Amino acid sequence: VTQDTLLEVNNIEVIYNHVILVLKGVSLSVPKGGITALLGGNGAGKTTTLKAVSNLLHSERGEVTKGNIRYRGDRVQGLDPSTLVKMGVVQVMEGRHCFEHLTIEENLLTGAYTRGSSRAEITQDLEKVYEYFPRLKERRKSQAGYTSGGEQQMCAIGRALMSRPETILLDEPSMGLAPQLVEQIFGIVKSLNEEEGYTFLLAEQNTNVALRFAHYGYILESGRVVMDGPADDLRENPDVKEFYLGVS
Ligand code: ATP
Repeated sequence: VTQDTLLEVNNIEVIYNHVILVLKGVSLSVPKGGITALLGGNGAGKTTTLKAVSNLLHSERGEVTKGNIRYRGDRVQGLDPSTLVKMGVVQVMEGRHCFEHLTIEENLLTGAYTRGSSRAEITQDLEKVYEYFPRLKERRKSQAGYTSGGEQQMCAIGRALMSRPETILLDEPSMGLAPQLVEQIFGIVKSLNEEEGYTFLLAEQNTNVALRFAHYGYILESGRVVMDGPADDLRENPDVKEFYLGVS
């Protein structure tokens, strides 16, 4: 059985400031309905890969200088992020990026603006987000800046869901969160994947957690994919165990 490939990254190179070569030919593919993990240490190039896909490199003086990126077979390089959102690709950036002065609910509603949905549809989508994140419902009237790190991460994911995406690029969801919350958030990601069919590409330094929840993983080192495979195989791989899972 061949799975539909939604996102295809073919041999891309990314250069920052015209000189710093950060991605040295990265290729990966994201199948529809899967959770794909992009793993690797600090500075390996995970965030850069996600930003290359959603065309968010310009503001950091970065550009894709080689290779190509396709979504459902169409080249998406150079499309602005809002066009990508309309095509079904949305990125949840590292560090959450909720609007601190807006309430949780107002933040969620900002996610709906790229599509011309009716009020009824938006209300329905909001209820769906609250179903998966009951904590956000409890906190819906709180100013986001006064909520916890975990709640802000949930808010950022919830806001992405409000754009009715097909594929969610999730950058470092575990960052700065206590282990229990990390488990909770990954558990919700898994449910969203299994029950609602969302496709995920997630960048994560926490290899252990990511490989427990993902179906497939790519390991990046210094801007290159050094290993990839089904998550269960990677978990059993002696090198992965030694270098990324801290067991040998
Ligand atoms: P992290 O988990 O820290 O985000 P990462 O794997 O996502 O790590 P990137 O953020 O993609 O890694 O960074 C890859 C490399 O690119 C690093 O060496 C980083 O210093 C460099 N880099 C990132 N952004 C820029 C920039 N705007 N200008 C120059 N170099 C950059």
